[in-house]
Amino acid sequence: MTRCIYLDHNATTPIDPRALDAMLPYLREACGNASSKTHAFGWQANEAVEKARAQVARLLGASSREVVFTSGATESNNVALIGYMTAGDPSLLKNKHVITQQTEHPAVLDPLRVLERQGCEVTYLQPDEHGQVSVNQVRDALRANTALVSIMAANNEIGVLQPIEAIAAVCGEAGVLFHTDAAQAVGKIPIDMKGTGIDLLSLSGHKFYAPKGVGALVVRSRTPRTRLSPILFGGGQEKGLSPGTLNVPGVVGLGAACEIAQEELPEESARLIALRERLYGALGSGLDGVHQNGHPTDRLPGTSSFSFEGVDGAALLISLNALAVSSGSACSSGTSDPSHVLKAIGVSEQLARSTVRFGLGRFTTEEEVEEAARQVIGAVKQLRGRRL
Ligand SMILES: *Cc1c(COP(=O)(O)O)cnc(C)c1O
Repeated sequence: MTRCIYLDHNATTPIDPRALDAMLPYLREACGNASSKTHAFGWQANEAVEKARAQVARLLGASSREVVFTSGATESNNVALIGYMTAGDPSLLKNKHVITQQTEHPAVLDPLRVLERQGCEVTYLQPDEHGQVSVNQVRDALRANTALVSIMAANNEIGVLQPIEAIAAVCGEAGVLFHTDAAQAVGKIPIDMKGTGIDLLSLSGHKFYAPKGVGALVVRSRTPRTRLSPILFGGGQEKGLSPGTLNVPGVVGLGAACEIAQEELPEESARLIALRERLYGALGSGLDGVHQNGHPTDRLPGTSSFSFEGVDGAALLISLNALAVSSGSACSSGTSDPSHVLKAIGVSEQLARSTVRFGLGRFTTEEEVEEAARQVIGAVKQLRGRRL
């Protein structure tokens, strides 16, 4: 068997060796707690954290004081959604309205369900067949009591990009706060918070070559309306919004990953788009009945989702045992329900069950893509042949 090829970069990415090198001193001798104010170990840790804060801010066109380090995008989303909606008086939730869309990650949908149970109203916009919601849909859904709009920047299963800048502008005009779960987008596509009306942005380190267990919530301070209440309580770190001892090595890795992404993004995205199109081309010329899910061009550089007519996705994944790919999202795998994302964009249940996501990344080579295409074509032909 050939070595397993890693094509699951939407589930998680390997650490960039340069980010790891930046972290190592903080896993070894530089062991200080960033909150320790009485000795050099603490000062050194704090300095490293503040450097990383500036690196995150620079990548996103934010300022350092707007960056709150968290354990990842799940925590960031919970703090943003629950922290904003329950700030002040939670009993006011009954009169509040939130707009989101059906294909969000569970880390947005689940906290919103919690708010709904407490009396908040939530509108789930239906995306079009490409997976996009439009500015007009958002505008039409706005009500007098709408407090927050949350639309992801890029989808984790099908890679489609949402028009978040235009949506943020409409929200700004209406005086409604705009949050985006940008876990899949940060480091992959340019995002400039200064030039746009994004008020709250969630990101996750392990989706762009930093380690697992670290992320950030960026809270624009230009909007005085952005008052968040904590959802966890403790030592008051990160302005009280993510209390607990900071994950200094993780934060340092996140900062380094941001700096690398900033420098290499244009070149890397061009390379990944070419590789992604090469995969699509190879599968399309080797097989009939291949459907690409999501938008043909408004998509993440390295992400493809394909449905293969006439094959069962689970059987296909088993025969693709030398490829690390996924049937959809790692977060909903383990259930046999077809993906809520594919369902929302109108993919039939049968085709949804024959879907494979290919997530190419920074270290994916041309040879790996060619080899992956060969293996997929062989496996699909074999499975289709077996059925006849
Ligand atoms: C991975 C992911 C998350 C969760 O991020 P964690 O850092 O693993 O908590 C949230 N939203 C999207 C879109 C993701 O892809």
